[in-house]
Amino acid sequence: MRLTSEEGTSEGDSLSRVAEEVSGCTKCPLSLTRTKTVPGEGPPNAKVVILGEGPGRNEDEQGRPFVGAAGKQLDGFLAEAGLNRSDVFITNVVKCRPPENRRPTTLESAACNPYLERQLGILKPKVLVLLGDTALKRFLPEEGISSAHGKVFQRNGRVIFPTYHPAAMIYNRSLEQVTKDDFRALGRLVSGASETG
Ligand code: URA
Ligand code: SF4
Repeated sequence: MRLTSEEGTSEGDSLSRVAEEVSGCTKCPLSLTRTKTVPGEGPPNAKVVILGEGPGRNEDEQGRPFVGAAGKQLDGFLAEAGLNRSDVFITNVVKCRPPENRRPTTLESAACNPYLERQLGILKPKVLVLLGDTALKRFLPEEGISSAHGKVFQRNGRVIFPTYHPAAMIYNRSLEQVTKDDFRALGRLVSGASETG
C-alpha cells in the first residue's frame, strides 16, 4: 500500500522522493542488515506525525511502520485520541531495522535525521508525537520520558508531544493507562490546534 503522494512539496521536495532516496540509502551500517527500508507512511496533509524508534522484524519484512504487536497497541492509543491510522503520518528515527531490535546508535540516528527533517518540512504537522526515549532524545535531549510524557513542548516553531513507546507496555503494564491518558490529552491538543488554525 502506498500512502505517500507526489503532492506535498516543499521547494520541489516530496514524501515519495524522500522514500525513494531512503530505499537506496547506504549512509549508515544499518543498510547492510536491513531487508526493506521503512520510510514511513500517511497522507501528505496529516496534522499529526507519530515518531517511533526504528523498524522491527515485521516492519523490516513489509517495509511499513508499526505493523507488528507495537502497531496494534499504537492503533488502540490513536483511537483514544480520536485518530485513525489513516489520519496520521507514522515514521521512525531510523528508517532501517537495527539488528536484534537494539536501539539505534547516535551515529545511525544522526545519519538518518536529514530524511526525517525533510519529511517534517514537507508535512509541517501541527503536532509531532514522540514515542519513547529514542524519539524524545532526538528533539528534546535534555528531557527524560518519565517526566516529559503527556506534556506539550514548543521548539523551533514545532509543537511536540512526548509519550511512552507502545512496546514499553509489554514490560510494564502499568504504563498502559498512563499512555491512554496521554493520548486523550493529545486528542484535545489536536482538536484545539485545528480550531485556532
Ligand atoms: N517500533 C518502532 O519504534 N517502530 C516501528 O515501526 C515498529 C516498532
Ligand atoms: Fe540510510 Fe537511515 Fe537506513 Fe541508515 S537507517 S541506511 S541513514 S535510511
